[in-house]
Amino acid sequence: MTASPQPIRGMNDVLPEAIAPWQHLEATARELLGAYGYEEIRVPVVEHTELFERSIGEHTDIVEKEMYTFTDLGGDSLTLRPEATAGIVRAMISNGLLRGARHKLWCTGPMFRHEKPQKGRYRQFHQIDVEAIGFAGPDVDAELIALTARLWRQLGIDHSVRLQLNSLGTPEARRGYREQLVSYFRAHEVRLDADSRRRLEGNPLRILDSKNPDMQSLVAGAPVLTDHLDAASRVHFERLRATLDAFGVPYTVNPRLVRGLDYYSRTVFEWVTDALGAQDAVCSGGRYDGLIGQLGGEPTPAIGFAMGVERVVALMAQLGEVPAPAPSDAYLVVQGEAAERAALVLAERLRDAQPALRVVVNLGGGNFKAQFRRANRSGATLALILGEAELRRGAVAVKPLRREAEQTDCPIDALPHRIDALLAAARRGD
Ligand code: ATP
Ligand code: MG
Repeated sequence: MTASPQPIRGMNDVLPEAIAPWQHLEATARELLGAYGYEEIRVPVVEHTELFERSIGEHTDIVEKEMYTFTDLGGDSLTLRPEATAGIVRAMISNGLLRGARHKLWCTGPMFRHEKPQKGRYRQFHQIDVEAIGFAGPDVDAELIALTARLWRQLGIDHSVRLQLNSLGTPEARRGYREQLVSYFRAHEVRLDADSRRRLEGNPLRILDSKNPDMQSLVAGAPVLTDHLDAASRVHFERLRATLDAFGVPYTVNPRLVRGLDYYSRTVFEWVTDALGAQDAVCSGGRYDGLIGQLGGEPTPAIGFAMGVERVVALMAQLGEVPAPAPSDAYLVVQGEAAERAALVLAERLRDAQPALRVVVNLGGGNFKAQFRRANRSGATLALILGEAELRRGAVAVKPLRREAEQTDCPIDALPHRIDALLAAARRGD
């Protein structure tokens, strides 16, 4: 016997029984993003490895140890995208779309990171990613945050998420701070874990982002970046905060919020939750004014965020209002070969007349009892019965399933223009 096929660890199926919150999130986000003037973009899930190395940064968890990288048959090093910003920025540059233009874009799809799989942390996961390119802010920063806050309200999860905010200043202003930080950690080098020791040279700010509980008191005593902001970044941050106050969107300034990727500048933010255990970040973003120039595009300011779909879906399943999937309207119960063909043709005519009608034909036979069981399970309002006897009369027997009611006859040819009235009557109960 051959072993049955196994899924890849950390890569999940989303079965039909679990799809409702996914679809509700996607539909809600799609409509909201459109209403704020964002356009959808779709980019490949694979890019040249170098793109991620150059954008995300060498000394990040992603580039150091999480990328799915392979050599393709042509000998190129390719990587499954671990995040969406790099690909979107690459698309703007390679399609010549910058030239001082502004773009409000969003994208959704799978991302890939070779992490240790656990609840809320997977190797294939999904993001809704939003980018505003060509905007220096802070107006756009505030509006993006308002958009996310509105999404949480629409999904009914606003009471279980909190906003954390910080400013990283400019890379130039960060340099001075970085030196102070390195000398602070050097002075306490014995207390650094292996990861942090490695980062001391390449990316000391990332030590502040350490998840290791043993490092927390050391991190708590470190100099604070917010005290070293350049004047322009300070004004930017104050204006962002004033607008959030005017919106009535509450936030906490968290001076330790540095974000995992190298390319951020000025505004960074994260929506976190207490409802999901250790994986508490549901949506993270920030400004990346230097990235596009660094990748060879014309220097263009930008800000974006990515939301972890699995984590938002988990919150929705716990607390949100997920509408139940719509049941079918009519289920066609059929008996006999001629009636089967007539039922298939009738269903097509019903769909021609009423494109939104959810009509299910009993496929694959079965006795009346089994077919009625399926009809009931489908949640249909009406069973439409077509057997040899009905066919001889040129009629369909119509039986309401959700209430006690008489079975009636309807001529086959009349059904396409009577079905709406029959459904309405069955729902009203006349
Ligand atoms: P974390 O601190 O949880 O590792 P991150 O800083 O690596 O998150 P980002 O790269 O900013 O996360 O990605 C944006 C969002 O994508 C996160 O806030 C989170 O909701 C989600 N996310 C990140 N990695 C995973 C993963 N492996 N599985 C599921 N969701 C993830
Ligand atoms: Mg991570």
